Amino acid sequence: MLLAAAQNAWLRDRAAKHKFVRRAVSRFMPGEDLTDALAAAQRLQEKHIGSIFTYLGENTKDAAEAQSVTEHYLEVLLRIREQPLQTEVSVKPTQLGLDLSTELCYGHLRQIVALEHPQRMVWIDMEASNYVDATLSLYRRTLQEFPNVGLCLQAYLYRTTDDLASLLPLRASIRLVKGAYSEPPDVAFPRKVDVDENYFVLAKEMLLAKKSQPRMRAAFGTHDMPLLRRISEFAATSGLRKGDLEVQMLYGIQGAEQERLAREGYTSRVLVAYGSHWYAWFIRRLAERPANLWFVARNLFDFS
Ligand SMILES: Cc1cc2nc3c(=O)[nH]c(=O)nc-3n(C[C@H](O)[C@H](O)[C@H](O)COP(=O)(O)OP(=O)(O)OC[C@H]3O[C@@H](n4cnc5c(N)ncnc54)[C@H](O)[C@@H]3O)c2cc1C
Repeated sequence: MLLAAAQNAWLRDRAAKHKFVRRAVSRFMPGEDLTDALAAAQRLQEKHIGSIFTYLGENTKDAAEAQSVTEHYLEVLLRIREQPLQTEVSVKPTQLGLDLSTELCYGHLRQIVALEHPQRMVWIDMEASNYVDATLSLYRRTLQEFPNVGLCLQAYLYRTTDDLASLLPLRASIRLVKGAYSEPPDVAFPRKVDVDENYFVLAKEMLLAKKSQPRMRAAFGTHDMPLLRRISEFAATSGLRKGDLEVQMLYGIQGAEQERLAREGYTSRVLVAYGSHWYAWFIRRLAERPANLWFVARNLFDFS
């Protein structure tokens, strides 16, 4: 129900007006402005945790808006460089105009990657399953010109086994996640236990590839600590260093673990989302952990 609600424009317009919803959202984002994200990145960096910025929004319906999102990201890259911060960016193809035209979206993506420092990655998010083919071709095309572009793959999709196998020989940098959209059982594992197991199988493939191609990045976008323990044990027995294992988590979730991983020598990064278009993104965070609904409800009665 929550994942369906994430797509509902009527609910979106109403939710943003309620103070208690905005208070609950602040648990997962430091604020709506870029300056809030920059301040959060600075605090994380003091704890040796890197960051990844994502400017919230998706399914842009108008070319001028897609252009303005692109310009925003270009400004972000310059601001990060000025500070300087260990911050990368992660972009959504539909926010850059994929629904309007593949060429338009590619042009925007290319501008962003071309401005990014070659030592830093521009990550591409993976959205609902009907966008996977288009996102993969955008990624392959960009990778031919720029090695510093990374792609998110979702362990809940059956097809990801083949997609990963075709990308690893290209020295692709991958962020593996479980997947956050509502998908039918003919495209995605319906049972969480199967998603988790597939995640582990795919993670092992990524780590073996990382061993033979040290410059690629193998990033694990999950808060699942038992799963991360299995992955780190496999990495250690495969002869990888702790720093080769990159864990990416979301701002506001498992903060103590993010710090512990960084202290122990793993590469720890936090995805910092900001911007005013937080509705669909926030509802997906609620769907991931129904207990978060209590947290929203508590904010309803918090008048401080
Ligand atoms: C850096 C990053 C980038 C991502 N990019 C994408 C993307 O491009 N495309 C995509 O489809 N998905 C993306 N996701 C979301 C991902 O697919 C999962 O929906 C999300 O990470 C929750 O799954 P999990 O792996 O943490 O495991 P789960 O098994 O869902 O959770 C494990 C534990 O983590 C904690 N936890 C998880 N989620 C929450 C939450 N919302 N609130 C509080 N606690 C929580 C709980 O303690 C839970 O028991 C991304 C996630 C991260 C961390």
